[in-house]
Amino acid sequence: MQPRRRTTTAATILRSVLDNGPVARSTIARLTGLSAAAVTKQYAELADLGLLREVEEARVPRVTVGRPHVPVDIDVERYAVCGVHIALTHTTLSVVDLRGRVLHQDREPHPGRSPEAVFQGILCLLPDFLRDHLGDRSPLGIGLATGGWVDPERGVIVRHSQLGWRDVQAREALRQFGLPVHVESHSRALARAEQLFGDQRSRNSMVHLFVGNVVDAAIATAGTVHHGPRSASGDVAHLRLEGSSVECPCGRRGCFQATVSDRAVAERAAREGVIAEPSLPLLLDRARAGDGRAKGLLRERARHVGRAVGLLLDVINPDVLVLTEAGVVHLPECLDVVRAQVGDRAGSVVPTSFGRDVLSVAAGSVVLDAIYGSPLDRCA
Ligand SMILES: [Zn+2]
Repeated sequence: MQPRRRTTTAATILRSVLDNGPVARSTIARLTGLSAAAVTKQYAELADLGLLREVEEARVPRVTVGRPHVPVDIDVERYAVCGVHIALTHTTLSVVDLRGRVLHQDREPHPGRSPEAVFQGILCLLPDFLRDHLGDRSPLGIGLATGGWVDPERGVIVRHSQLGWRDVQAREALRQFGLPVHVESHSRALARAEQLFGDQRSRNSMVHLFVGNVVDAAIATAGTVHHGPRSASGDVAHLRLEGSSVECPCGRRGCFQATVSDRAVAERAAREGVIAEPSLPLLLDRARAGDGRAKGLLRERARHVGRAVGLLLDVINPDVLVLTEAGVVHLPECLDVVRAQVGDRAGSVVPTSFGRDVLSVAAGSVVLDAIYGSPLDRCA
């Protein structure tokens, strides 16, 4: 088989097992349209690599040579990936299995704001973190995800406005572990995670909107996440929102990020005496405890987010718009407020599939996307 065709066949089989496993080889052949011989051959190679395995306990009687009816599944015991998500104030380190499930995560405050300080902190923590939490699994790579403008080809964080970072050589900074390092924007990583492990409608076309301290988006069509020239796509921070007069550092008023970011909402809540210090988790706690003013601020944010969601739905017309926003994740009424802004498109707006694990899944998926895209090229 030609190398490219072999890679495509391997990726097709791996994805089929991800979706359907445990599944018999004969069923994979039927589902993918590949020949039984091709499936058997590629299964053997993927099993040798430690990505697939037979499921012993569910074995059914052997009926033909090659045991095509023994179910096979993703081997989640042998390997895992390491995730590093860099947020405004902290880094989240994680171990994620090959099904995108978070096995462990730790949140560490940044020791300083400069790229040097943040990466030095990561380099100090990572060896112990991996030793303590990988268990018997071997790491297949490190995935780094963050907000803002990220160029995965060069492995560079081109611009992270709130951190004040420009052209940070992120891949290079994590090279010393001897593992493949993949770098991507958290919004695009979550779009891929949704396609691989989440809402299957996202495989046709989707917009992923991330609203945290950074506000950014990702667009995917026909199963492919759009990057555009220099991977600059997805910048919606300065989208102009009707009904907002909040000042933005860019000099204009009513920009999306300046209006709805975690920090903007938490600072307003602290200013208005709803919470003692500007912290979004604190505001969420108050809202969940039934505090009407806390809920009101989160509902107002949801209204603004809903307007932006409406614009994105109009322009891009995706099958589904996936929203990662703390209010929507933790308070169902915030999702209702967002949906109320988009009329008959409400059914296409869904919260992220990954709940509280979303930052770890983002980072881990940067590596997992590479593995599922090209499984035979994973580090041998
Ligand atoms: Zn602006």
